[in-house]
Amino acid sequence: MITNPRIQGIGMTSRRTRERMINRLLEQGITEHKILDVMRDTPRHIFVDDALASRAYEDTALPIGHNQTISQPYIVAKMTELLLQEKPNMGKVLEIGTGCGYQTAILAQLVGHVYSVERILPLQKKAIQHLQDLRIRNISFQHSDGGWGWSKNAPYDGILVSAAPTEIPEALLEQLAVGGVMLIPVGRAGQQELRRITHTDSGYQVEVLEPVSFVPFLSGGVS
Ligand code: SAH
Repeated sequence: MITNPRIQGIGMTSRRTRERMINRLLEQGITEHKILDVMRDTPRHIFVDDALASRAYEDTALPIGHNQTISQPYIVAKMTELLLQEKPNMGKVLEIGTGCGYQTAILAQLVGHVYSVERILPLQKKAIQHLQDLRIRNISFQHSDGGWGWSKNAPYDGILVSAAPTEIPEALLEQLAVGGVMLIPVGRAGQQELRRITHTDSGYQVEVLEPVSFVPFLSGGVS
């Protein structure tokens, strides 16, 4: 039980504010109770700067520095729901774009182990700290260009990408287990779509889901 008041939150960062976020997610069509329970219990405000903490439960993306954003609660819930829909008990999940680590925290409480790759080192360091503060330990981190995936631990039951490439990197398709599912936004700014790729015995099945707005998937690492 974590009793640190910063983590528990008060006022606009309290459990009651989180409960309002959960009610909104229900209205937006999120139905998976396991995901809603985890989001109700996870203090999103610790993943953003103190100056933005009071806005952490609004349904909006917020800046986390380095021109990046924490994804809005709806998109975190929706991607997690779509990832786990057919396979609720995933063992290994690869996440590309750790950012502040909020999506990582949600995933790690629902799957066996999360392997998370981030190209901007200072963001990765902060994410590691946030997840340590919450004592979530079933996560491994890698600082690199996620376009290469993380072959050492492949294949993955699930892959979740939180930045949008214009084309799906080949390495990610290769590292998806047969029976595995990948959620990925694809396209240029203003015309991105969320896709779900399922690796079946006979190949890759692609579903185009909904229009989305993510930061671009960039190559190379930043120290
Ligand atoms: N799920 C994160 C989203 C952060 S924004 C959150 O809620 O905080 C997307 C992240 O993807 C950024 O941190 C960005 O640096 C990272 N990113 C973009 N291209 C990448 C790449 N090729 N490899 C790894 N990370 C990448």
